[in-house]
Amino acid sequence: MMKVTSLPADDNSCGWFHLSRPRKPKPAHEGHSTARWVIVGAGFTGLAAARQLALNFPNVEVVLVEAQEVGLGPSGRNAGFAIDLPHDIGAEDYIGDIALAKSSLKLNLAGQSILRDLVDQHGIDCQMKACGKYQAAVEDRGIAVLEAYRRGLDKLEQPYQMIEQDELPNHLGTHFYRKALYTPGAVLLQPSALVKGLADHLPANVTLYERTPILEVEYGAKTVLKHANGSITADNLILANNSFGMRFGFLKGRMLPIYTYGSITRQLTSEEQAQLGGKPYWGAIPADPFGTTVRRTPDNRLLIRNSFSFNPDGRSDSRYNERFIRRHKASFDKRFPMLPNVNFEYTWGGALAMTRNHNGFFGELAPNVYGALGCNGLGVTRGTVTGQLLADWLAGQRDERIDFLLNAPGPNSNPPQPFLSLGVNANLKWGQYRAGRES
Ligand SMILES: Cc1cc2nc3c(=O)[nH]c(=O)nc-3n(C[C@H](O)[C@H](O)[C@H](O)COP(=O)(O)OP(=O)(O)OC[C@H]3O[C@@H](n4cnc5c(N)ncnc54)[C@H](O)[C@@H]3O)c2cc1C
Repeated sequence: MMKVTSLPADDNSCGWFHLSRPRKPKPAHEGHSTARWVIVGAGFTGLAAARQLALNFPNVEVVLVEAQEVGLGPSGRNAGFAIDLPHDIGAEDYIGDIALAKSSLKLNLAGQSILRDLVDQHGIDCQMKACGKYQAAVEDRGIAVLEAYRRGLDKLEQPYQMIEQDELPNHLGTHFYRKALYTPGAVLLQPSALVKGLADHLPANVTLYERTPILEVEYGAKTVLKHANGSITADNLILANNSFGMRFGFLKGRMLPIYTYGSITRQLTSEEQAQLGGKPYWGAIPADPFGTTVRRTPDNRLLIRNSFSFNPDGRSDSRYNERFIRRHKASFDKRFPMLPNVNFEYTWGGALAMTRNHNGFFGELAPNVYGALGCNGLGVTRGTVTGQLLADWLAGQRDERIDFLLNAPGPNSNPPQPFLSLGVNANLKWGQYRAGRES
């Protein structure tokens, strides 16, 4: 048996989790059982894979195992942007190779449409709004990014609107930004409410076990997954646990558990809403990737997301939450000086499984072991679509999207420790320093 050397441990302070409908978690697995399909990880990727496998094999039980409660992990604690457009930060115009960009766009749109359909079909109350997103800049460097991305969007034939400084307060309330590129295709949502809803509307032949961390694994003709109160023997194992896939012996050192942090305010009073102005809900991502994401939610809260730390074991570390809440407050005050008395109700951190070449993994990891891992901060749409397509591929289907994912190069390798930590930490520090007023 191989020990799973690190287990997820997300902090209990995620605003989205506590502000969404409370639900009773499904019971943990106990005893010894067998299943044809077992999926580890009930985030966007695992939920989509489980749903689609169950639909593809309606007479077979599909087992989905989650270490924590659904909605508490990274899928429930992100900024809630279901993004359509590709954004290749390595390319001069942020679009790069047009064929790759078109395939990427197709995948993201498919992910959005899967989620939209499920929300409609099951009436999931998750504040889903097809309101687009602003990419906002304040520094000269940020403005140059918007101009370059505009050229990329022209090349990709995607619509956008460039909004100048004097117009921006009508959109976002704040006078902070100098320019923004508005793209209409992004969908905003309350991520924890969505994953809770998805988990509660799985097909009847999916059995979900929560609070069941897999502690040990034995590979062979079948895979044995051991937990504290028993084991599950799988004909086929699907890893949908993002960077924790490395703890199951795969893609070692290729995914980087980089944490980023969010804070959400209390609800604004109607007087404060009038002082803020702008549209009733919106989302703005920074022109600089190390800058600050901001949202005004449909229930009138403001969200700030910025700051990064490298947590090699993939687990949260409360010292960072305490440190970054001050940075969140400073970012809030710069943008919203008209709201001096609005404090944060919740602050939390969460892991992005980043890869150096921004490619995730999709396909076979070992005989009878498969994975869709490494969502690179795009897991809402990308995790959803890759989870679903993995299930289709396992049911013998092929299409151009599956071929694209199977033929993609996958995550590249990284230097060993301690050089890895030194390099990543230096990069994060430098990036955050360079973001300047965008932070
Ligand atoms: C603050 C923040 C903001 C972000 N903003 C966005 C955004 O706006 N848009 C976007 O698309 N993405 C965003 N992301 C990234 C997004 O959250 C991830 O890409 C997404 O959660 C990946 O989904 P997933 O299902 O692949 O993995 P996860 O959500 O990480 O789910 C994997 C699950 O596996 C479980 N697991 C791990 N190990 C085990 C084990 N041993 N046994 C059992 N279960 C296990 C974990 O508990 C976890 O719930 C953000 C992330 C953060 C932290």
